[in-house]
Amino acid sequence: MDLRRDELATNLAEVRQRIRQAAESADRDPADVTLVVVTKTWPAGDVRLLAELGVRHVGENRDQEAAPKAAELTDLALTWHFIGQLQTNKARSVATYADVVESVDRVKLVHALDAAAGRASRHLDVLAQVVLDVQPGRGGATVSDVDAVAEAIASAEWLKLRGVMAVAPLDVDPIPAFQEVRRIADHVAATYPEARVMSAGMSGDLEAAVACGATHVRVGSAVLGHRPPVR
Ligand SMILES: *Cc1c(COP(=O)(O)O)cnc(C)c1O
Repeated sequence: MDLRRDELATNLAEVRQRIRQAAESADRDPADVTLVVVTKTWPAGDVRLLAELGVRHVGENRDQEAAPKAAELTDLALTWHFIGQLQTNKARSVATYADVVESVDRVKLVHALDAAAGRASRHLDVLAQVVLDVQPGRGGATVSDVDAVAEAIASAEWLKLRGVMAVAPLDVDPIPAFQEVRRIADHVAATYPEARVMSAGMSGDLEAAVACGATHVRVGSAVLGHRPPVR
């Protein structure tokens, strides 16, 4: 356990340094970039160690895994980000533990999540997920329907629209992709002034995302190591 703690501490220090450097190179305050550590596939014990090392935001992408983990760790008062593709029939469970749902990509899901949040009497922060290259079977609103999704979130009783989330397409230069995300984020913030979050950037491309104005980076493997294969 101590070895694992040391490993996580070292990796975390490295990632924090990368964020600091990227922010400073972009003339940004490093404090304006929130690190969300993506703990999917890793045990609750690792999340506990991360909390001891000062991590406040964690990200999970599967309800079946996230729900029991969050239940086991309620004493840590972490902010739980749900970042995975979300089916409407999982909204009810996710609304009971998630604080931020980053992956909301269709109006039907907005309605399901709002009803679920109301049922749980919990207000949720929500991001509209955009995809830049639309691939069948992957989540995300296309650039053209992000307005409809954002509007539905903003008018939902229990949801607060906080901004946008994106994953850069694979095998492309991330800078133009993140510049496009920045443009969409600015467009959303122009209509909804409280929606200023731009969640973008992962282990491999966080510098590019921070350079383009990401307020949240979602980092998994650079902190926790390479994920064991999904069961
Ligand atoms: C897994 C995941 C991440 C983290 O990816 P790493 O490359 O491990 O940093 C970020 N965002 C989403 C949506 C993910 O599913």
